[in-house]
Amino acid sequence: MNIPFVDLSAIHKPLTEEFVAVFHRVLERSCFVLGPEVQEFEAAFAKYVGVEHCVTSSNGTTALQLALGALNIGPGDEVITVPNTFIATAEAVSAVGAKPVFVDVDPVSYNMDPAKVEAAITPRTRALLPVHLYGQTADLDALAEIARKHGLFLIEDACQAHGSEYRGRKAGSVGIAGCFSFYPGKNLGALGEGGAITTNDAALAQKMRMLRDHGSLRKYEHAVPGFNYRMEGMQGGFLRVKLPHLDGWNQQRREIASIYCARFANTGVVAPKEMAYGKHIYHLYVVQVENRETVQKELGAAGVATGLHYPVPLHLQQAYKELGYAEGSFPVSEKLAKRILSLPMYPGMSADAAEYVAAKVVECSELQLAAAAR
Ligand SMILES: *Cc1c(COP(=O)(O)O)cnc(C)c1O
Repeated sequence: MNIPFVDLSAIHKPLTEEFVAVFHRVLERSCFVLGPEVQEFEAAFAKYVGVEHCVTSSNGTTALQLALGALNIGPGDEVITVPNTFIATAEAVSAVGAKPVFVDVDPVSYNMDPAKVEAAITPRTRALLPVHLYGQTADLDALAEIARKHGLFLIEDACQAHGSEYRGRKAGSVGIAGCFSFYPGKNLGALGEGGAITTNDAALAQKMRMLRDHGSLRKYEHAVPGFNYRMEGMQGGFLRVKLPHLDGWNQQRREIASIYCARFANTGVVAPKEMAYGKHIYHLYVVQVENRETVQKELGAAGVATGLHYPVPLHLQQAYKELGYAEGSFPVSEKLAKRILSLPMYPGMSADAAEYVAAKVVECSELQLAAAAR
């Protein structure tokens, strides 16, 4: 059996005709950038997340930049985030001229540990930027309480959490702003690049709309120097076609996850844990195993494709060397980086395929556990 890591064709094939209709509509109207298709998607996505406003952008990284920039976070400011994330989270902080400050994560949820945040707050701290890693939210009530107490903004990096929930509220609806990526492989993906910010703050939404379009709300009137971070008309249309299917796709991911979790119980494979506060939508299904490199190689030989999210924590990346963090600064993130392994996970994956993957993962990891014990 050959199991790919992801397969987007399974979800896209049945929608082909609707995508072609979007192409024809956009071509007909010549609304290639922003325009009605993007506006309709913004309204639909705001409703889905349960907020007043959605401002789309060119990708998830620029969505984060727009949120930070519109909150006037810049040079001299610090933003607290986590080291076990995709580099875009920290890059957005750097891009607005602020400094990323890392705190370690909780060993069970893999998300920002509220107990470690206060020690990292300084007079320069302006915001908390937790990441809802792999599709499960951080402990948002605890983080919101810290933010409130210290007068900080809470910004959610929800780029892996479309449809995930925290105590019944959708990811992206709890903080002042929620930032999403529609990179094709995300749970809701464009057929190209895309991003969005969700918020209940009308003034913030207005500022982000302005910044994404050259600091302008009316053509050739520029209130501030901005950017070109606009979404393409076609991507808005494609996303509008896909959005009604998101919950069903997330449900399929949860079913694959429940097969995996059942098979990994009472084995040496450490399965992800769905926290009591939330609903995990398994953007990635990540286990911990002993001798990860060997397990990954043997799975590859058995036809099971896997990934690593992420093998090097950000504080140990060359790009962030200047921040001066030594190895050992964030023991939970560092330990996870050596043990994590992402398994195949996508809507349309068959139960048989999931059973096969699970059996091979257990087999390979038990061999390595036995080897480690010798
Ligand atoms: C994908 C991702 C981003 C960046 O999104 P792009 O659309 O690729 O720019 C940011 N943060 C996290 C956690 C992501 O997974």
